[in-house]
Parts: sequence; structure tokens; C-alpha cells
Amino acid sequence: MKQKQQPLPPIKTIALVAHDGKKQALVDWCQRHKSVLEVHNLYGTGTTGLRIEKETGLGVTKLLSGPMGGDQQLGAKIAEHHIHMLIFFWDPLSSQPHDPDVKALLRLAAVWNIPVACNEATADMLLASTYMQSIMPRSLPDYDNYLADRSLDNE
Ligand code: PGA
Repeated sequence: MKQKQQPLPPIKTIALVAHDGKKQALVDWCQRHKSVLEVHNLYGTGTTGLRIEKETGLGVTKLLSGPMGGDQQLGAKIAEHHIHMLIFFWDPLSSQPHDPDVKALLRLAAVWNIPVACNEATADMLLASTYMQSIMPRSLPDYDNYLADRSLDNE
């Protein structure tokens, strides 16, 4: 599929997710980066979002809990271009009942070419980027054109 340019805005909508074994690490990371994060719009899966709100005072739009569908909700918002960045502290040392959903979320982040951090070091690097305060050039699949071409094929 062809690609098109669709930059990410200076004020971004950021998804925050952590597995149970990594929740405290993500809460601590949010606290450390509070001054950067509070400028942006934050979304989270249910339990992660609640803990971040309670323990850091940051406002988070909370979706369903991950195992109940929250990861899939985030994936849908990425596909709809509503979420611009994903911080996902997944736990590589424990198995998850909703592993297919986790994989699907990471897959959609790759399809739509949004910045993703799966560990703290990468999340630190992302937040240090000047793109956190400015427009970020980004290419993504040109799905509208693809659809238009397909409908011409069927005529
Ligand atoms: P939770 O979901 O924030 O509701 O715990 C995260 C996950 O495990 O995907």
C-alpha cells in the first residue's frame, strides 16, 4: 500500500498501559515526567489509568481494563488516528491471559507508525525528543486512496 504524510500534532494524545508487574514502574515514570505529560492528553487502560490518576494527579481518560478489552479499545483509537503515541510497560517475565490483545495493540501501533515505547529507557528517550513539543513528520498507509482505487476496480 502507498504511504502518505500525516504529521503528529504538537499536543499529543498518549496511551499509557502497564501490566501488573510493571504498574509501579509506570506510575513512578509518570511522576518523574509529570511536567511534560501534563501538557498532553492521556489515555490509559482501566487499572493503569486509575493508578496514574490517584498517585500522580495527572488526568487520564480511562478505558476498560486491559484483559476486559481495554487494549483493543486503544488499538481501535490508534487505527482511527486518535492516539498518537503508546507507552506500554509490558512485563516480559509473566504470561498474560490477554496476550493476543497485547500483540494486536502493538501490531496496530506498527501499522499506523506511531512512536511506541515498551520499556522505561525508550520511554525516557521519547520524552526527551523535541517532537514532544512540535509537529512530528510521520508517514502512514494511504488507506483512503487504496479504497478509492479498489472501488474503481469494481466499476
Ligand atoms: P489494566 O490493563 O491497566 O486494566 O491493568 C493493562 C493490561 O494488562 O493490558
